[in-house]
Amino acid sequence: MKQEILRQIPAVNDLLNAELGEKLIEDYSHQLVVDAIREITAEIREEVLAIAEEDLEVMEFDLSSRSILLQVEEHLQGKDRLILSPAINATGVVLHTNLGRSLLSDKAQQAVLDVADNYSTLEVDVDTGKRGSRYNNIKEILAELTGAEDCLVVNNNAAAVLLALSSLADGQEVIISRGQLVEIGGSFRIPDVMERSGAKLVEVGSTNKAHLRDYQQAITEETALLLRVHTSNYKILGFTKEIEPQELVELAHQNGLPVLEDLGSGIFVDLTGDGLSYEPTVQDSLEAGVDVVTFSGDKLLGGPQAGIIVGKQEYIEEMRSHPLTRALRIDKFSLAALEATLKEYRDLERAKERIPTLRMLTTPPTALRKKAEELLGQLSKVVSESFKLELREGISKVGGGSFPLEKLTTYLIELQHQQLSTEQLAMKLRKNYPPIFTRVANDAVIFDLRTIQQQDYQIIVEAVGSLP
Ligand SMILES: *Cc1c(COP(=O)(O)O)cnc(C)c1O
Repeated sequence: MKQEILRQIPAVNDLLNAELGEKLIEDYSHQLVVDAIREITAEIREEVLAIAEEDLEVMEFDLSSRSILLQVEEHLQGKDRLILSPAINATGVVLHTNLGRSLLSDKAQQAVLDVADNYSTLEVDVDTGKRGSRYNNIKEILAELTGAEDCLVVNNNAAAVLLALSSLADGQEVIISRGQLVEIGGSFRIPDVMERSGAKLVEVGSTNKAHLRDYQQAITEETALLLRVHTSNYKILGFTKEIEPQELVELAHQNGLPVLEDLGSGIFVDLTGDGLSYEPTVQDSLEAGVDVVTFSGDKLLGGPQAGIIVGKQEYIEEMRSHPLTRALRIDKFSLAALEATLKEYRDLERAKERIPTLRMLTTPPTALRKKAEELLGQLSKVVSESFKLELREGISKVGGGSFPLEKLTTYLIELQHQQLSTEQLAMKLRKNYPPIFTRVANDAVIFDLRTIQQQDYQIIVEAVGSLP
């Protein structure tokens, strides 16, 4: 019986000569198709051999060339797919680090493509034809936006902090308030980074309070700088005191020392008019006299991964010539995207439209409700009777270690299934291609409209519609 079934599996050559076989050879290659056919037919053989004789009688096998070649096609498609693939973020967390943080504006995307497809002016001075600086492209625009004397860009903000401390404080003391000993997701801890840089940490104040006199008393001959770290991902509330940048700058400058500030997110715009709370901007820090400010390119700025360093020329100069700069250097794609993103900020109102991170953060609830109604309408048409759909008001988070307490009003679609658990449902959506990431709460799978893009609707509707 088994042998009989196995004999029905078409020969490799017959499969290759079938119409679909020939098309696959054209799309892939003869060798890849042969390999895939061997793999698939071997799987079928194993499957048949594993089944008990008595069960075989009642089973049906589709061993037609077409059915096998369709499996071959799926197998080849799967192998071709990139593992780092697009995904749909329906979690509502705008700066979702695991899902790639910021999306790029159209202009930033184009800038990446342009330098990918062509040679570029990466390190050449067009006027002289001689070697130029890799950072020239953003110097002008950063100066225009922030008033900074000079700038440098590295791989990410963690690298920026490491570089700043290594070049300005190696072997010396750095004073920081205990309330600012930040740990960021992953493994970025300010005290650890400082140790790597060769700087010696001098903690002052208590968890909830640091006074100016605490800093003053800690300044010695060994002090290299005063460090301020924006506690971007947590807030200490209640009986607290941290020194404002301006006061810290005054104290530092009286003692001939610079102030370094790690702003974390780094934002150029005040979004309080759009329903968010106040977040210190890069301009605020520089205006307060902070000598060197570092921040991320892909958090609230809404650009590519990057660590941006702005400030006084004498300090930036020192960093530029530090050997670590080469090791931490930013690549041309990120630099191109960063310049394009920064240039969007020349027109703040348009920046809020064109930079996806800003757009998602500032979308008003009424617009989100409309989006939710649209998705609900489309889903209602395709889902099986096992589903229950509901539109609800809810809360989305900013994410990326920014605005930790912010509660943004949003609209959600809640999905429940009679047979599938919410975990199973969420898993099926993740296994879709492209994967769909949702939130699970209230015994439901939740789609938050804040982070769902226009091009996502159809994919979501098809994925949910294909479930039993
Ligand atoms: C996020 C963050 C960092 C790390 O920035 P990356 O760009 O992710 O390397 C450092 N410091 C603070 C305060 C942050 O919020």
